[in-house]
Amino acid sequence: MAATTSKTNLLGLERPELEKFFGTLDAKPFHARQVMQWMYQRGVADFDSMTDLGKPLRTRLTECAEISLPAVLGDQLSADGTRKWLLGMDEFNSIETVFIPEDERGTLCISSQVGCAMNCSFCATGKQGFNRNLTSAEIIAQVCVAQRVLGAARPITNVVFMGMGEPLANYRNVLPVLRILLDDFGYGLSKRRVTVSTSGLVPNLDKLARDCDVALAVSLHAPDDALRNALVPINQVHPLAELMAACRRYVANKDRSHVHVTFEYVMLEGVNDSLAQARELAVLVRDIPCKVNLIPFNSFPGTRYRRSPQAMIDRFGEYLWSRGIVTITRRTRGEDIDAACGQLAGQVQDRIHRAERRPSSTEALA
Ligand code: SAH
Ligand code: SF4
Repeated sequence: MAATTSKTNLLGLERPELEKFFGTLDAKPFHARQVMQWMYQRGVADFDSMTDLGKPLRTRLTECAEISLPAVLGDQLSADGTRKWLLGMDEFNSIETVFIPEDERGTLCISSQVGCAMNCSFCATGKQGFNRNLTSAEIIAQVCVAQRVLGAARPITNVVFMGMGEPLANYRNVLPVLRILLDDFGYGLSKRRVTVSTSGLVPNLDKLARDCDVALAVSLHAPDDALRNALVPINQVHPLAELMAACRRYVANKDRSHVHVTFEYVMLEGVNDSLAQARELAVLVRDIPCKVNLIPFNSFPGTRYRRSPQAMIDRFGEYLWSRGIVTITRRTRGEDIDAACGQLAGQVQDRIHRAERRPSSTEALA
């Protein structure tokens, strides 16, 4: 969906930016809000169908603006109802987006980058390499496309940044998307229904605490630095003490004192699933309002890891409960179509030679 024309793509512009653009057309700011409602709430991408805009403005918009959606290159449905789309971002790269239906909600899992540079050792996306950050338009377009395909009968009630990529490594483009998801003229989701999941980019976690109020998930996966350095290499840059301090600041920020952090913990047999490690984990998170999500490892070709046996996962979870920590084992969804956590791969033209790839605490290579 790389820009092919000189027209401005209105997708992904947060409200003040869109109002500014309408200002350049000598149109009133409320027209920008009308267009947001058409794009995000009614799924309309054609200016001529925006019937509450005057004809001259519609003509002007057609001349200088567009609402450009990515091509749907694949659409797979799992036996459990999970649905995965492959969306073309440019000639060489495509990303995946997953819809997970539940009785009371519909969660869309979106991607923020083409691949991921963080190189976590147990993640298919990380193993595939990294090409580029997605633009704000390309990120929000995933919600637009999914909602169009699903239709009004199947509303997207939750959005999680748990697809391909490290959202906080693409902070500049992710922030406007968060604001559009929360905006009443955008998707109008409540802040608890939008979740950013991060492997631990501490400086940008602090920026997020300052800039936007959304739910936070942190991919912990290990209770000590030595193991986490091996599993989640960004830990070599921002070790656990630093990450835990940032989590404390996140929940303490502003009026967020009622909020918790969700710690994600992938269950890898014989690696991080012992009772001793559960004990260490309980100590590590003890003074942070939190929940723990245990994620049974999802396999992919070439991985050296195995999923912990269910009995180990249960025992680990029961220990955490005994320490007063709310612990939920994430149900594996969409495994038959490779749509489960960590299995998303898309088509990534890796631009970083694997041997040279190092996680960095700054914006990922653009
Ligand atoms: N990059 C972000 C969000 C994407 S992944 C992050 O790492 O937080 C969402 C979750 O799936 C993360 O907790 C991630 O660590 C986990 N995950 C990655 N690979 C996995 C795998 N093979 N099996 C299970 N969970 C995995
Ligand atoms: Fe990137 Fe998250 Fe996968 Fe790590 S787990 S490689 S941060 S997508």
